[in-house]
Amino acid sequence: MDKIEILKIANSFVEESEQNIIPEGIALSEAVVGMRIFENPIFAFGSAIDPYFKKLTEPSVIGPHFLAPKQWLPKAKTVISFFLPFTDVVKKGNSREGVWPSEEWLHGRIEGQAFVVKLCQHICAVLTKAGYKSLSPSLDERFWAKVGNNSALKSIPCGEGAVYTSNWSERHIAYVCGLGTFGLSKGFITEKGIAGRLGSIVTELELSPDTRVSDNIYENCSMCGACVKNCPANAISLETGKNHLRCSEFVNKTKEMFQPRYGCGKCQVRVPCESSIPKR
Ligand code: SF4
Ligand code: SF4
Repeated sequence: MDKIEILKIANSFVEESEQNIIPEGIALSEAVVGMRIFENPIFAFGSAIDPYFKKLTEPSVIGPHFLAPKQWLPKAKTVISFFLPFTDVVKKGNSREGVWPSEEWLHGRIEGQAFVVKLCQHICAVLTKAGYKSLSPSLDERFWAKVGNNSALKSIPCGEGAVYTSNWSERHIAYVCGLGTFGLSKGFITEKGIAGRLGSIVTELELSPDTRVSDNIYENCSMCGACVKNCPANAISLETGKNHLRCSEFVNKTKEMFQPRYGCGKCQVRVPCESSIPKR
């Protein structure tokens, strides 16, 4: 099994799976029946013993609660990170609406995340069947994520003393593996842009690691400020970055309005980094 084979397996799943399509039974309106959520993914591969994983345990990055690949899977050799770009219809839908998320985006956020889980499970099952034990840390029972005021959890300041953190971070993993870099909005900018979802797998299969994009974690962000202007919660600033608490309070409002769905993503559409790396 090699990288090309993994790509083919993932592409077939994205192209053929009914779970990448919104069915009539759950569609928020007639207009989104049959909507495709994701385009084919892009991948990056990292070594399970990349010293950068140790750096993620530093309090200024994620913190000592971050679990390295070998803590999830002792014989891990490779970390696979992927980005599923949203289709144009999902992105255009959210560009059309003003303050609130479009129905296309709501489906992309919720049914899209369910599809990410399915893709992770599918790749893990194929690798495991081929003799390489594999798992997706964010689906593992040991995974946790929380917002709190614990001073030991310093990974991402949310504002007003609160922090958001977890013991595995798809965006940090994507950065280590070489899939792209962070943006000012704290989204992740890949060669296919920022509008999409990330996933990752830790496996015993040995594959050659890709090269990290840059030592600058914001290399792909032009700091144009378009996401600052788009944000309905004033949660992003060119001077101070992102206020996660303000963002999550806004997203909580969308939970009240659109339950069981929620989302926002205005910082990921109508921006130069929407579908590619922006020009500086
Ligand atoms: S909109 Fe501009 S500033 Fe915001 S993340 Fe994208 S490139 Fe960076
Ligand atoms: S998701 Fe919405 S509220 Fe949160 S930072 Fe992006 S635009 Fe602002």
